[in-house]
Amino acid sequence: MSAGMELIGTETRAARFAGLQLTAVGASVTRNADVREPLLSDITLPIYPFYVRVRAQDSHPVTARLSILSAARLATVMASGSRPRVDWSETLATGAPILRSSEWRLPSSSCPPPCAGSFAQHNAGLVIYSASAGTDYDLARTLAHESVHLAQHTRDAVLDAIPASDAALARVGPLGRTLSRFIVVDPFMPLRLIDEGELRVRGGTRRSSWYETEARAFAPGGEIR
Ligand SMILES: [Zn+2]
Repeated sequence: MSAGMELIGTETRAARFAGLQLTAVGASVTRNADVREPLLSDITLPIYPFYVRVRAQDSHPVTARLSILSAARLATVMASGSRPRVDWSETLATGAPILRSSEWRLPSSSCPPPCAGSFAQHNAGLVIYSASAGTDYDLARTLAHESVHLAQHTRDAVLDAIPASDAALARVGPLGRTLSRFIVVDPFMPLRLIDEGELRVRGGTRRSSWYETEARAFAPGGEIR
């Protein structure tokens, strides 16, 4: 999985998509090993807001499921006051929606006034960047950093959120099992919650969180100021 993040950290556009998918394959293999299935039997690849599932032995080997969390986030952001636009070139190069905000800096809880906000943010499988891209910060470097967060999100989804969604829907009965072929109900990201919780207990800044520390290790620079 870290090989995928290393690829993203090279800051080249071509490596970003490959890095995200490599992270997803690594997480899928880990998950398959955990449940004692053949390592490549069930692979999840993210094309946000979808999770493409590849099961070579299945009668439907390739299926796509909508992430409820990512779809909800995308709908919320697109309808927000700042009316961001889709940057299609970066979106296709990443495998996740990359949006350009019309705001110079993005309001950020980790960078409250007098700090002017953040360059870019990842949330639930999509990245939004501010209008100051290319003027006082480097967009490629910033997108590399946010793409490591995308990879972290994907790892959490494959290891925890997707299996939890499948298990919960299976308990609902036949309707749930049918739904689980089309959607992933993934509002819970356990590792992320543990990270946030640990940060709160320690009273640390967001910058010192495990997620930020990991993202900086693979893609230095390109974070909030
Ligand atoms: Zn970050």
